[in-house]
Amino acid sequence: MTNKENINEVNTQESVQAAPAQESPARKEFRRKRVKRIKAALLFLLVFFLVVPNLLCAFLLYKLYQMNKSLNLLREEIKISQTEIERRTKETTAVLVDEYGNPINMGTETVELPDDANLPDEERYPGQQLVYLTFDDGPGKYTNEILDILKEHNVKATFFVLAADGYDAEYNRIIAEGHTLAMHSYTHRYSEIYSSLEAFENDINSLSAFLVEKTGVRPRFYRFPGGSSNDVAHVDTADMIHFLTQEGYVYYDWNVSSEDASKELKETNTIVKNVLNGIGNKSNSVVLLHDSAAKPTTVEALPIIIETLQKKENVVFLPITDRTRQVYHVKPELPQEEVKAPEERSEEPEARSEGVYEEADDENKEDAKPEDVQDAADESADEGSED
Ligand SMILES: [Zn+2]
Repeated sequence: MTNKENINEVNTQESVQAAPAQESPARKEFRRKRVKRIKAALLFLLVFFLVVPNLLCAFLLYKLYQMNKSLNLLREEIKISQTEIERRTKETTAVLVDEYGNPINMGTETVELPDDANLPDEERYPGQQLVYLTFDDGPGKYTNEILDILKEHNVKATFFVLAADGYDAEYNRIIAEGHTLAMHSYTHRYSEIYSSLEAFENDINSLSAFLVEKTGVRPRFYRFPGGSSNDVAHVDTADMIHFLTQEGYVYYDWNVSSEDASKELKETNTIVKNVLNGIGNKSNSVVLLHDSAAKPTTVEALPIIIETLQKKENVVFLPITDRTRQVYHVKPELPQEEVKAPEERSEEPEARSEGVYEEADDENKEDAKPEDVQDAADESADEGSED
């Protein structure tokens, strides 16, 4: 029933009641006023219920429109923030961890991860000569000097270290300045390391624990004392390689030798010549050098080597990383399904495919063996007198 009908009905009722009686004019007047009041009240109600909800609706629609506008602005802001977060995460990852989640560069400079960061080095630097300087048998009294030279020339390298007391700062400096801290041996005594597979495993496990304690970093690159093709081991090389593969280590021999490991001290110029001739036009050179206490001429040769190579515009110095082609004397084992720590390697399952292997030429293999073996004997003597 509508409001109008209501009014009519009231009127009708009033007239029905009023009709039979004779009414005084005062009563009529009162009745008329009453009807008027009721009409006004009904009109007010009508207006109230029709207009107010409409006004309210309009107000709410306006509010909705405003909120929608704010929401769109917020969405834009979130999008910008997300992009920024992604960019920063990418940068942080580049500085702190590699694809296995281990620190690779704890330097103070922020390095933006390039888009091609996961490509092998040779694909990142097509047509360039890649040079990996590697220093064995340190840290020692020349390690800081070598780190200074590398820093001065903005060159990153790789240090295959031993366990040495009193060199905490050097181990950490190697990492902090963006070089690769890699494993060589706990004792470097061939008679011990290669006496049995168990002894070999113990040597590696001890060095790993030692380096984790000193730096918090567990290195994953390894170099056999004397190289993988050494002939002093009383253990099957395949068994040692199997152990390394299981533990997630990748070993690197060398394909350029400075020959600074020989018993008699090599002249600075000879070291320079050996390295430069060894690199020649090779596209990928892993250079064997030593930062042990007995090798002062290596320190002298280093800036000459670097400066000569830096004059060639196509030479890039790099530290050994997961992106580096493996250089070996004895062929590595292909990844097995039982390889340990699959969660660490899962991101790069094809990392060690045939394509990244490079067998060093025979010349380097033969050169290295007797000299490095000799070196170890010298070092055992050195170690006793050095401290
Ligand atoms: Zn060595």
